[in-house]
Amino acid sequence: MSDHREPDAVPVVIIGAGPTSLTAATLLARSGVTCLVLERWESIHPQPRAVHLDDEVHRILARLGLSEKFAAISRPACGLRLVDRRMRVLAEFRRGTAIGRNGYPEANMFDQPELEALLRANLHRHPTVTLRGNAEVTALRQDRPGQVSIDFTDRSTGEHHRVLADYVLGCDGANSLTRAAIGAAMLDLRFAQRWLVVDVATDADLAAWEGVHQVCDPHRAATYMRIGRTRYRWEFRLRHDESAADFQAMDRLHPLLSPWPRDIPVEELRLLRVAEYTFRAQVADRWRDRRIFLLGDAAHLTPPFIGQGMGAGLRDAANLAWKLAGVLDGSLPERMLDTYETERKPHVRALIRMAKLVGTAMTRGGELGNLVRAVLAPRLHLMPGFKQRILSSQTPALRRSGLVVRPRLRRTLAGRLCPNAILDDGKRFDDVAAGRFAIVTFTEPSTTQRVEVERRGTALIAARPGSELHRWLRKGRAHAVIVRPDGTVLRTGCDPLALSASLPRTSAAD
Ligand SMILES: Cc1cc2nc3c(=O)[nH]c(=O)nc-3n(C[C@H](O)[C@H](O)[C@H](O)COP(=O)(O)OP(=O)(O)OC[C@H]3O[C@@H](n4cnc5c(N)ncnc54)[C@H](O)[C@@H]3O)c2cc1C
Repeated sequence: MSDHREPDAVPVVIIGAGPTSLTAATLLARSGVTCLVLERWESIHPQPRAVHLDDEVHRILARLGLSEKFAAISRPACGLRLVDRRMRVLAEFRRGTAIGRNGYPEANMFDQPELEALLRANLHRHPTVTLRGNAEVTALRQDRPGQVSIDFTDRSTGEHHRVLADYVLGCDGANSLTRAAIGAAMLDLRFAQRWLVVDVATDADLAAWEGVHQVCDPHRAATYMRIGRTRYRWEFRLRHDESAADFQAMDRLHPLLSPWPRDIPVEELRLLRVAEYTFRAQVADRWRDRRIFLLGDAAHLTPPFIGQGMGAGLRDAANLAWKLAGVLDGSLPERMLDTYETERKPHVRALIRMAKLVGTAMTRGGELGNLVRAVLAPRLHLMPGFKQRILSSQTPALRRSGLVVRPRLRRTLAGRLCPNAILDDGKRFDDVAAGRFAIVTFTEPSTTQRVEVERRGTALIAARPGSELHRWLRKGRAHAVIVRPDGTVLRTGCDPLALSASLPRTSAAD
């Protein structure tokens, strides 16, 4: 990564250097695409925001080469507890901290600025990415054929610059200039609540249950979780007449926190920050205008109750990067870029619906709501499939598109993530597929099939009887599947050779 040198024309300009942008830039770099990242501020956003990501998103970080480094700054969480205002347990959904089908623990707690620091440091491995800080993008135009022109100001010198790009990724967060520039608007999914977010550090042992606690109480809904060895996060719903300014001092805050640290003296709790956020549910009405795309918070906002906002941005980046790289190197037709919004928008809406449901369950209904919760919550685990649904980190399959091929009315594995299973040689699926298309087949391929498929740059993986991949194929009633570079099943079929012939020729990522 080099600083303060931008070419006059680059294949891709990325606006913003938050987690979505840094993921997209790294994935593009791994596919050999040169890009320029323009970020308004000199360094990373210091305020802690995201604290949870699931194993599907951990898998994306692993593709960036960050699996071990992320594991070192995160800790697995062990489930969810619903409690009432007196901290009596209404329901508990325990989750093991063992490795799941994606090769990582299913719930991971971390600190967003630490993750952003890792993502930035990792960019140094990729000389084809230039990150320019203090660069505020002021205008975007698509008035030349095949190019976007981007105006930005160097905030340290006041100088104005222009750069041309084949494509622009707007990863510029909730108040996105890119969104305005393409004439897109946020659709309001009718959720807005003001919450107080509190981060505390202490060496004392809070001795609280090591999962996420959701306090279901319309008078003061709250969330508590441990996010590191000495770090803790609380979120409290604010009442109409309250603001963060009321809770800057520990004596005002302590009554809210006290059910958890109990007897720990206030002096042993170090307040890292207290901030107010309005949690919203919104999705942009369109995510693309010709050569400009929206990703991350620029395209969607979710209340953080199931910890999926940042994850959604990383999923956007993983979905679009390989397609854009394919279009730029000529191996994919341009129209395949339409599949980005077709696939990602319904997925993100499904997760926002889930987050709204959890938020509503925690906060609705006054005293009557409390009564209903007290009666229903302890019985939730008896509802068929409910516990599994709450604890499963598996997110919905992607919608049908030019790159998710399946019949309209029949469920198949297409659109689902292929498990990151351990293969016969002890390596995981993702390490063998290594950012290429892969064919996973039920039957041992012939030498001719193997040679031909691999000649096309596709990985060929035979699922041995009794193996995890074999069970997965059987359950999905598939003989063979094509897995895309982002780990999603493109289509099912029978003959590996025929499947591979339907694929573009690709070059392997590094
Ligand atoms: C309290 C709270 C808790 C959360 N908890 C979770 C959680 O547990 N799990 C989870 O997955 N998510 C969570 N989130 C959401 C998560 O923090 C965001 O979804 C994530 O930061 C979005 O990343 P992004 O890269 O899309 O946007 P951002 O992080 O907002 O980055 C956008 C970047 O663009 C830059 N920029 C903007 N305009 C310009 C411009 N004109 N020119 C140049 N640069 C520009 C900004 O300076 C910024 O650096 C939480 C959020 C909050 C507030």
